Amino acid sequence: MVVSNELIQKEADEMPFVANEVLPGVHHIKDAMGVCMTLLVGDNAALLVDTGYGTEDVQAYVKTITSLPLTVLLTHGHHDHALGARWFEKTCMFAEDIPDFVTYTGAETRERVLGQAKAKGLTTDAGFMTDDIPLPEVLQEGDIDLGGMTARVIHCPGHTPGSAVVYVPERSLLLTADDWNPCTWLFFPAALGVKEYRSNVQKLSQLPHTHVLCSHQPVLFERSMMDDFLANLTDDTLRAAVPVDITPYEATDTRQAQLPHGQILVFDWAKALL
Ligand SMILES: [Zn+2]
Repeated sequence: MVVSNELIQKEADEMPFVANEVLPGVHHIKDAMGVCMTLLVGDNAALLVDTGYGTEDVQAYVKTITSLPLTVLLTHGHHDHALGARWFEKTCMFAEDIPDFVTYTGAETRERVLGQAKAKGLTTDAGFMTDDIPLPEVLQEGDIDLGGMTARVIHCPGHTPGSAVVYVPERSLLLTADDWNPCTWLFFPAALGVKEYRSNVQKLSQLPHTHVLCSHQPVLFERSMMDDFLANLTDDTLRAAVPVDITPYEATDTRQAQLPHGQILVFDWAKALL
């Protein structure tokens, strides 16, 4: 056993993932492209929330942390969360994001991500371009019992129509994925208008959590960071947002709202109805 553990550790060290156990059984994992996923490890089962860009073998890396039965949940269909699904036989996500999943795991996106990976000096296997990725099963709201740890799956339309957030009561933790991070993007074609987004995400404040993890930051945040973001997301703040160019979305009238602690929200002005 000692030998095999050493072997597993050696493999983990050679993998381009960085994991940080931010709370007991809560591993926030950054992939080589720089996006994060979260592995929740209970007493009987584990849940992987998102799969990253998929340029490296996510499943093999997860196995270096836990051998428990694993469920794989995709918070939404964007490629930086969903392309890693190619390493798993089965994933799940809310039905509203399946169309985005199909688009963002398609050949055009893979080609673009491959170019980005090469620009970072990363290599990947041929399967990155050719693997068939099974369509996710349809996720339902509710509790997933991991044994001593619960993952409460909540549908929170905003960043995308099918965005999922996960609340972990035993760790007083909320996983917001892309529905909130200090630089929240709300301008993709499928994103909701900013007022509807605000209304949906503000409901999350009623949860008694103390900490937040998001997909594009490796660190654990105090909830006050997100609370201050939401409390200042007033109509006046949104009206004062300034135009900003985001490549390749120049055709969209993107505006950037300035929020406390250097946070920003970039949204589609045409959908704002302010
Ligand atoms: Zn996203």
